[in-house]
Amino acid sequence: MPGSLVTRFAPSPTGALHLGHAFSAIQAHDRARRAGGTFLLRIEDIDGTRSRPEHVQGIFDDLATLGLTWDGAASFQSARLAVYEQSLSRLRDKGLLYPCFCTRADIAASGAAPHGSAGAVYPGTCRMLDPATRRARLAAEPHAWRIDMARAVAAIGGTGGLAWHDELAGVVQADPLAHGDVVLARKDAPASYHLAVTVDDAAQGVTHIVRGVDLFEATHVHRVLQALLDLPVPLYRHHALLTDAAGNRLAKRNGAPTLASLYAAGQDGPALADMLRRGQTPPGFALPRD
Ligand code: GLU
Repeated sequence: MPGSLVTRFAPSPTGALHLGHAFSAIQAHDRARRAGGTFLLRIEDIDGTRSRPEHVQGIFDDLATLGLTWDGAASFQSARLAVYEQSLSRLRDKGLLYPCFCTRADIAASGAAPHGSAGAVYPGTCRMLDPATRRARLAAEPHAWRIDMARAVAAIGGTGGLAWHDELAGVVQADPLAHGDVVLARKDAPASYHLAVTVDDAAQGVTHIVRGVDLFEATHVHRVLQALLDLPVPLYRHHALLTDAAGNRLAKRNGAPTLASLYAAGQDGPALADMLRRGQTPPGFALPRD
């Protein structure tokens, strides 16, 4: 059906956008525009301590300068915390969540095996607490909520039905157990990235998730949440990442030059967007082939 394709760009306003963000936003935007579909902008600002209004404004300005337009007003995850809480309650009522009191240091000290970019797989320390201890600590200590992944997988009858179609990787069989008991609600927010992004993509009718391959692994977790919450499964395209000339991925924390600094140095926005569309970059960057 023409017009029914929906994509989105979902940046976190925790820093200024860099060229890698532009590359990703252009792909999602153009995908929708080519199909006469809808392109949404969602500000992923559940992290109240790291999100900044000036970065939200920077996202609007940087995308507009590139010549990208989005449909409707941008949505803000910080306005949807009650919705995430509802999904969390559903999962809690099914007995699939448990409170976790561990600090990062506790988890590091437990010798948990490192697991790709997602950090360590949680060793399950708080899953094994006896009910009385759990109740007492729940009343007294800050806690996150983790999904009991083995139970969750059992609740949906195993991982057999959990494949997803990725336009670049093909049919991918989800392996959520490899990710362990991930956090669904943080100590400081009633949702984690995994929960908020899955709930929002469904609520906004996103049909095609176009995002960087750095988020490929997260999809294993998102597939389980979709199955548990009866949400539709979108099509995925995890694109290769734009890098610096040495092949290192761009990151805010590594001081990647911001889009604003490229514009300030005289780079024209629409010309930059067209350059990326043609598979070229300004000097100092490199675009891999998908
Ligand atoms: N907010 C996420 C980020 O900035 C992206 C979310 C997504 O595309 O699924 O990395």
